[in-house]
Amino acid sequence: MQVPFVGLQRQFHDLHDDLLAAFERVGASGMYIMGEELERFEAAAATYCGTRHALGVANGSDALFLVLKALGIGAGDEVITCPNSFIASAWVIVAAGAKPVFVDAGEDYNIDAAKLESAITSRTRAIIPVHLTGRPADMDAINAIAAKRGLAVLEDAAQAIGARLGAKRVGALGTAAGFSLHPLKNLGVYGDGGLITTDDTPLFERLAKLRNHGLRNRDECETWGYNSRLDPLQAAFAAVKLKQLDRWNARCREIAAQYREALQERVWVPRDRAQEEPVYHNFVIQLERRDALIEHLNTCGVGTRIHYPIPIHLQECAAGLGYRAGDFPVAERQARTILSLPIYPELTQAEIDHVIASVHKFF
Ligand SMILES: *Cc1c(COP(=O)(O)O)cnc(C)c1O
Repeated sequence: MQVPFVGLQRQFHDLHDDLLAAFERVGASGMYIMGEELERFEAAAATYCGTRHALGVANGSDALFLVLKALGIGAGDEVITCPNSFIASAWVIVAAGAKPVFVDAGEDYNIDAAKLESAITSRTRAIIPVHLTGRPADMDAINAIAAKRGLAVLEDAAQAIGARLGAKRVGALGTAAGFSLHPLKNLGVYGDGGLITTDDTPLFERLAKLRNHGLRNRDECETWGYNSRLDPLQAAFAAVKLKQLDRWNARCREIAAQYREALQERVWVPRDRAQEEPVYHNFVIQLERRDALIEHLNTCGVGTRIHYPIPIHLQECAAGLGYRAGDFPVAERQARTILSLPIYPELTQAEIDHVIASVHKFF
């Protein structure tokens, strides 16, 4: 049996008729940039996340980048994030002209709020907590520190759409949030896409101009901007999928519960805390003999990935920041022991059982 790490065609086939109807509708509308189809998805996304505003943009990286720009963050500023994330969590800071400052991860892979204060300087302007693997970061502690120090909090919610902390969903837990609609994310479209959420109306209005060349209207340009819009076609696909998202996320939590129950005696498994409902974008186990397990699972037909094998501060591009191996011991240890198992709503029971049996066979 083959259990691929991802199988995006399955979801396409499941939603085939609704997706084709969306394509027909957008095609017939003659509106292929901006317009009502995009606005309808933005309204639905804002309602879903529980925020006043949502804004479609070209991708998840731009979502974060544009918020930094709209906050006026640039040269001479520092922005704090974690070193164990997808590279985009950090390059957006560099692209904005600011300096990324890293804070080590905790055992849940999210930024360790207890280590946050010592990284704050007079130049710090914002914190970007990443809800890694679909688990909300410790937002109560992060927001308390940010409020005390006058910092903006930009959630990197690329992996976590739909996750809850208390009564709120991610996207509604900071100053603003960036989501990715990349095909591999829990709400993925058929190409690149991104989304920003915020309750801050002036910030939203600046963002709406920045993503569209800085234009105030068709002819008047208020500020230098960017071309970073979400296509109405992708917005229409996203709207189809948004209706399924809670069901899909619940299914991923179910699969996670099966993996946890079956594998907890053998490997380190993630556990949910009270008050939170993660969405298991990834199910990440840890073990010392990680590389041997990868090879074994390969021979069993089970696809795996490492999220992420090289912490950002040790990437070649980050050499100029002056970090060294050993600076973030938790993230660096995790990079050596973590492994992501296949997890997506379309996995069959036979496939889940095969993953579990294959891990047991290794031991
Ligand atoms: C995917 C991802 C991004 C970037 O999103 P894109 O849509 O690929 O630009 C940013 N941060 C994290 C944590 C991600 O997983």
